[in-house]
Amino acid sequence: MSLKLCKECKKEVSSKAKTCPSCGAPVKTGGTATSIARIILMVLAILLLLPALFIGGPFGLLVPAILFIMALCLK
Ligand SMILES: [Zn+2]
Repeated sequence: MSLKLCKECKKEVSSKAKTCPSCGAPVKTGGTATSIARIILMVLAILLLLPALFIGGPFGLLVPAILFIMALCLK
């Protein structure tokens, strides 16, 4: 269990709460699974970026770029 900051009132809210107890705003419940998936995608992107730079070419950079974008899109 962890605490998150409410986007509306900036108070600490339990990550298990669906709404903020202070202001009632919905709390985004980005689960642990998505944050782990994001870290894995980020690491993969960085790992693929190095050989891509050596091989060169726009296609080599495309794969890590897509992984990076996917990681950013995860919520
Ligand atoms: Zn709030």
